[in-house]
Amino acid sequence: MAAVTLTNVVKRFGLFEVVHGANIDIADGEFVVFVGPSGCGKSTLLRMVAGLEDISGGDIAIGGKVMNDVEPADRGIAMVFQSYALYPHMTVEQNLSFGLRMNGNPKADTERRVKRAAEILRIDELIQRRPKQLSGGQRQRVAIGRAIVREPQVFLFDEPLSNLDAELRVQMRVEISRLHKELGVTMIYVTHDQTEAMTLADRIVVLKAGNVEQIGAPLDLYDDPANRFVAGFIGSPK
Ligand code: ADP
Ligand code: MG
Repeated sequence: MAAVTLTNVVKRFGLFEVVHGANIDIADGEFVVFVGPSGCGKSTLLRMVAGLEDISGGDIAIGGKVMNDVEPADRGIAMVFQSYALYPHMTVEQNLSFGLRMNGNPKADTERRVKRAAEILRIDELIQRRPKQLSGGQRQRVAIGRAIVREPQVFLFDEPLSNLDAELRVQMRVEISRLHKELGVTMIYVTHDQTEAMTLADRIVVLKAGNVEQIGAPLDLYDDPANRFVAGFIGSPK
């Protein structure tokens, strides 16, 4: 488990600054949602936490350790994306174990982790199927399973449900909530969907054009939005 701290984090692409000094403190075990319109910098922030994007200024710490120059694989994080490319020729079991096998993880431990992930996600019956024999929701579970087997301190989700239909989205939201309670790990979840943010988050970080507009519990943002943008975005009457 680990807290995540962003201190004055800046991101520039060439001359274009897209994150303007973000300060975000995420507690150990907290579920924090980054929300804001398309292009506001949600994915960029998450990718910097993951180490997939260099930071132009400031610090990112995970579990109290500054990670600015630490490789993604050594940050204790796992990321779930919107486009979850599973290996089509591999079974669910092979998809889940592939990364661990490539890293030379001992066979017995790999089997234990795959079994546990499959149980947590309730896909143990599907373990010998291939992706094309799965529904969209089942595929999404396998994609989350690939993160679970890494036993990360911090889970990062980038709009993981946006490719699913509305009904499945609601179902997977419940699953992700349950997963958070069961694993007790820190989760950072990016979405442009207010409902998703309001239902999943312990706290919400509202972003607008690379600035943090407000951080707070869903009901606090609703009852006491810092400005019109937050009010409009969260849907509160003010
Ligand atoms: P969001 O995830 O909130 O939709 P992003 O973090 O993807 O937003 O993008 C934030 C801003 O950074 C946007 O203006 C986007 O065009 C720009 N951006 C993202 N990635 C790159 C890149 N690799 N090169 C240049 N600009 C980028
Ligand atoms: Mg994005």
